[in-house]
Amino acid sequence: MLYRSTRGDARPRSFSDILLAGLAEDGGLYMPETWPRFTPDEWRAMRSLSYPDLAAKILSVFAAGSIDLPTLQRLCAKAYAGFSHAAIAPLVEVENGLFSMELFHGPTLAFKDMAMQLLGQLFEHVLTERNQRVTIVGATSGDTGSAAIEAFRGSPHLSVAILHPMGRTSDVQRRQMTTVKDDNILNIAVEGTFDDCQDMVKAMFADTPFRDEIGLSAVNSINWARIAAQIPYYVRAALMMGAPDREISFAVPTGNFGNVLAAWAASQMGLPVRRLCIGSNRNDILTRFLTSNDMSMRAVEPSLSPSMDIQVSSNFERLLFEMLDRDPQACQATMLAFRQTGRMPVDQAAWMRAKERFGALMLDDEATLAEMKALYDNSGYLADPHTAIGLAAGRKAQEPGIPMIVAATAHPAKFPDAVRKATGIDPALPPHLADLFSCEERYETLANELNIIEDAVRRHIKAHTHTA
Ligand SMILES: *Cc1c(COP(=O)(O)O)cnc(C)c1O
Repeated sequence: MLYRSTRGDARPRSFSDILLAGLAEDGGLYMPETWPRFTPDEWRAMRSLSYPDLAAKILSVFAAGSIDLPTLQRLCAKAYAGFSHAAIAPLVEVENGLFSMELFHGPTLAFKDMAMQLLGQLFEHVLTERNQRVTIVGATSGDTGSAAIEAFRGSPHLSVAILHPMGRTSDVQRRQMTTVKDDNILNIAVEGTFDDCQDMVKAMFADTPFRDEIGLSAVNSINWARIAAQIPYYVRAALMMGAPDREISFAVPTGNFGNVLAAWAASQMGLPVRRLCIGSNRNDILTRFLTSNDMSMRAVEPSLSPSMDIQVSSNFERLLFEMLDRDPQACQATMLAFRQTGRMPVDQAAWMRAKERFGALMLDDEATLAEMKALYDNSGYLADPHTAIGLAAGRKAQEPGIPMIVAATAHPAKFPDAVRKATGIDPALPPHLADLFSCEERYETLANELNIIEDAVRRHIKAHTHTA
């Protein structure tokens, strides 16, 4: 399987190459050259596989030519060994035909672990094979940073530096990052916003001498391997519900459009997916796009669901590319106009095509709290704010006889203040995190300046590679 950029980079590349590269050199996102498809009989045969074996099977078509199936089976077994639920991603029927697919039983209690734990294994495998070292730098508003740190801690092949906006993550989120003691991990609290952190990472990538000096790599959600690693749970849920012999629908609370894009990919691979519904908070650019083709950027406002406080959904470019019949020039022109004007001029035919498959619902904070309370009162189900928005979007789009499967993206204990406010219940942290508030924190607070942060990353690499 070879990969090409959404903006026309002509050079096709292998799975292992795009795993380490992340973003394409022309600023585009990598996409598989063709969609691998399975026949109904092949889908049926996958019903008996365990979660790790199913994940290996799905990944094997995307990694074809780079990593073989037995190796992937070994890596997937390791990736999901640390999950606290034997089913890995269990389905809970919350209301008649409305299912919560719990993706938060990994080490950091958010769905990012589902892909990031596997990415940790994939990086380790490819870097060992190539005898190569890299430095992963990432910006986080909370969940991506802790998932990356858990996935890459202790690795002899890479250094990790995670930038978070000082004072703007929740205490649970910050402590999940800063209490990790492994030498290869550096946490930096940047005096600025999440957007400043993200711009800083982009500036480091643009600084070619620095990028080459430290072997810069990225694991943010534009990395195709993360999307690929998110496809198996949609496949498994669909198979459990009777696919390919029955249609199913999905609803996904959405920020960067990565998770729902994986559900869409599952349908491209031949699963009978009827509807895809996205949920958003008041940062509703995607909802406005799907209801009225209004993809215009507004200022980001903080909400109870901070992992969806996003105005530029980077993975949307992949759907756009498909809706434009994979025309890289048209995709490039649309994306550049968006950057220049703050409004994306999406071709009417492309918009209609997106609207055929996707629905959307926006819930503000008040409606989110009301939804959390209703879920608890009516079903005894404790949902975090992100999951509650997903469940509301799923309920709205439900059709009789068609199971609606909702991605439950965070454990309620990750957002205890909102859960307490909505239900009066204090959600307990699982045992492996019970001492989170007594562990010592380690992080540097630095000014929002490129040379200061680059120096800190250099010092970090030097310090831990000399002790290793
Ligand atoms: C990252 C995240 C999301 C958004 O996922 P995208 O792939 O960016 O759409 C939703 N909920 C939680 C809890 C998250 O951590």
